[in-house]
Amino acid sequence: MSNILVLGGTTEASALAATLSARGDDAVLSYAGRVTTLKAQPIPVRVGGFGGVEGLEAYLRAHGVTHLVDATHPFAARMSANAVAAAKRAGIAHIALTRPAWTPVAGDRWTRVADIDAAVAALAGPSRRVMLALGRMHVDAFAVQPQHDYLLRFVDRPDRPPGLPRHHLVVDRGPFDVEDDRRLMEAHATQVVVCKNAGGTGASAKLHAARLLSLSVIMIDRPTLPARQEVHAVADVVRWLDHGADRGV
Ligand code: NAP
Repeated sequence: MSNILVLGGTTEASALAATLSARGDDAVLSYAGRVTTLKAQPIPVRVGGFGGVEGLEAYLRAHGVTHLVDATHPFAARMSANAVAAAKRAGIAHIALTRPAWTPVAGDRWTRVADIDAAVAALAGPSRRVMLALGRMHVDAFAVQPQHDYLLRFVDRPDRPPGLPRHHLVVDRGPFDVEDDRRLMEAHATQVVVCKNAGGTGASAKLHAARLLSLSVIMIDRPTLPARQEVHAVADVVRWLDHGADRGV
């Protein structure tokens, strides 16, 4: 009998949770606990870090987990690396449910950068109107470029104001709509959008909107992760659970 742990915090993890619930699978969804208002889920939820690789391995063993599905965000690099290591140490099956990265299409004006620091560096120069579509975690890094007017969008209202002298904060939760994003960018006279190459459809509205408005996009590439089996669809995880996990396919 399978006992599944899904590492979540994404639209894909929620979609997988719905499917596993409908199938009557034994599954738990894990959140890091970064967001205060969690989406209601049809399977049991646990919240908070495990305590590194050792902590996750101990959890997998203590709860008799047989299948670990990493459906975290492509930028959750530490969690994903820990998942690979802990699954190996516990001797259980592991797979990642990810979104293919976005690639530019005609009309896109992307500058690709390697990480947050490179995105900050790419904003050197005269004052511009910048949408930081990054969530709240990395916003303070942009304080070294205080000359810009920043438009921020967070899932929750932060406990303390963001450390950027000139900013406007919108509190809203995706998925977002292209027209709404276009209106938001127009209303703020946005010139540059900074975002992570998350992939998927839930967060792509801002890219369509930026294309419609011919805005520059500073696109942060994904972090490198250890080698692992990856699929892009919930149905592929289900196939793996039913047929492939024991054979490592
Ligand atoms: P991270 O840097 O890779 O993880 C840092 C630590 O947070 C991990 O070592 C782990 O703590 C804990 N953690 C992360 N995801 C967890 C999960 N699903 N369940 C339990 N503990 C978890 O991750 P992050 O970038 O801070 O992302 C945190 C969460 O937000 C993830 O669930 C991710 O899917 C979601 N998210 C991230 C982004 C992003 O841009 N990074 C965007 C949208 C959503 P321990 O070492 O103590 O186990």
